[in-house]
Amino acid sequence: MAEAIALRNVSKRFSGVTVLDEVDLDIPAGSVTVILGPSGSGKSTLLRCINHLEKLDGGTIRIGGELVGYRQKGRALHELGSREVARQRRDVGMVFQQFNLFPHRTVLQNIADAPIRVKKAPRQQALEKARALLQQVGLAGREEEWPQNLSGGQQQRVAIARALAMDPGVLLFDEPTSALDPELVGEVLQVIKQLAHSGITMVIVTHEIGFAREVADNLVFMEGGRIVAAGPTQQVLDDPNNGRVRNFIATVL
Ligand code: ADP
Ligand code: MG
Repeated sequence: MAEAIALRNVSKRFSGVTVLDEVDLDIPAGSVTVILGPSGSGKSTLLRCINHLEKLDGGTIRIGGELVGYRQKGRALHELGSREVARQRRDVGMVFQQFNLFPHRTVLQNIADAPIRVKKAPRQQALEKARALLQQVGLAGREEEWPQNLSGGQQQRVAIARALAMDPGVLLFDEPTSALDPELVGEVLQVIKQLAHSGITMVIVTHEIGFAREVADNLVFMEGGRIVAAGPTQQVLDDPNNGRVRNFIATVL
């Protein structure tokens, strides 16, 4: 089931340097949000906070109303227990720039592994579902391959199938096509596009403006750890007053 994400006053520092500066953001359930912004603006850190890969220094993140990670109460920081974190992480899938497939597991094992180990899904059922997901991402017949024998675009499609295998309510993509040769970008964007508006709440960091224009409901532009523009995609892209956004887009087109 899709789940809305709400960030309030989210701050994150690394060695005293503020990387997320009191970020407020609402992401509607089932929507597609694209995050744009220059390198170092905090996009990956934002996704990592949503996925419990980083602990907040301040503020709150809620997914489907449930508190994620740290929160600030007075001056004290309260942390969720590790079991609670593990439970919540199961509902949030993440796809990375570098695919991060397990090299010593076949394509099918890569997809079925977490449902079997983490969700305790019956083995045959998990393998069956993995096959169906592989078909969904256009890779039927590649079940027994090793990841390194696939192209980057195919590996990334396996990574997407692997994330989907956990039935996430939220799916985060961190520059999913940035490591790919240009001719392989389209096949991955096509798979992501097919998932859009299927019910999963999707947050995608990407520089693919054409894709954003076509698929994203909302666009968020980050700079220096802050959100400097956000709203319906068309509106943000076409607002003549969004000089920073327009300048940035000119550099990535
Ligand atoms: P983006 O994804 O927009 O390029 P990041 O979220 O990766 O930006 O990084 C934002 C800033 O935080 C950068 O200055 C980066 O160097 C810094 N940063 C990110 N992760 C760490 C870390 N684990 N330790 C120290 N600094 C980090
Ligand atoms: Mg990044």
